[in-house]
Amino acid sequence: MRLIFVGPQGSGKGTQADIISKKLKIAHISTGDLLRNISGGLKEEVDSYIDHGNLVPDDLILRILNERIIEKDCDEGFILDGFPRNLVQAKELDNIMDVDEVIEIDVSDKESVKRISGRRGCVSCGAIFNVETSPRPITPGVCDRCGGDLTQRKDDNETALKKRLETYHKETKKILSHYKSVKVNGEQDIEKVTEDILKILK
Ligand code: ADP
Repeated sequence: MRLIFVGPQGSGKGTQADIISKKLKIAHISTGDLLRNISGGLKEEVDSYIDHGNLVPDDLILRILNERIIEKDCDEGFILDGFPRNLVQAKELDNIMDVDEVIEIDVSDKESVKRISGRRGCVSCGAIFNVETSPRPITPGVCDRCGGDLTQRKDDNETALKKRLETYHKETKKILSHYKSVKVNGEQDIEKVTEDILKILK
């Protein structure tokens, strides 16, 4: 099964992709994570795009994606989280494969800003917390799961987030009508959003 999850910053698409990929035993491909994990010569260039809230060039992300989808864990399918982000990428993807379902996880800009400004991640285990909403860390700045330090992503500042949301509305939303996408309400409990997505996939 090949799925695409689309949603604005903080919509919870990464969280849902994580839960659903485990349930369906398919891979979870987050292009944001792939880019953040780049090391070596390309890192500085990639970081300069991400940190300012800009998309990386299409040819670069396509190269990275093409390398990822041939890995063994993708044999039974995958969820694309963060790709495609514009029509060029969607059309390139059409040339490579068919997609079974495109799911839009919808949240308002107001909710997105609230979630992103409170978001903190653990530098050791990657767990995500939120100082404004939930899950709130028991001890401020410390990961409940492993005791690691909690930090804010460099692009989770007001200026970069504004640009990311603008790009989402101007570029990424266009892909929703390119496909027959189905919308779920992302402003519900995590469990309820998962339930709604699973219903669509049945
Ligand atoms: P968010 O969805 O909150 O913006 P991600 O972790 O999905 O967070 O992406 C972080 C950044 O990685 C994006 O702002 C962008 O710079 C880059 N990125 C991720 N996916 C793509 C893509 N498909 N095309 C271009 N840039 C991308």
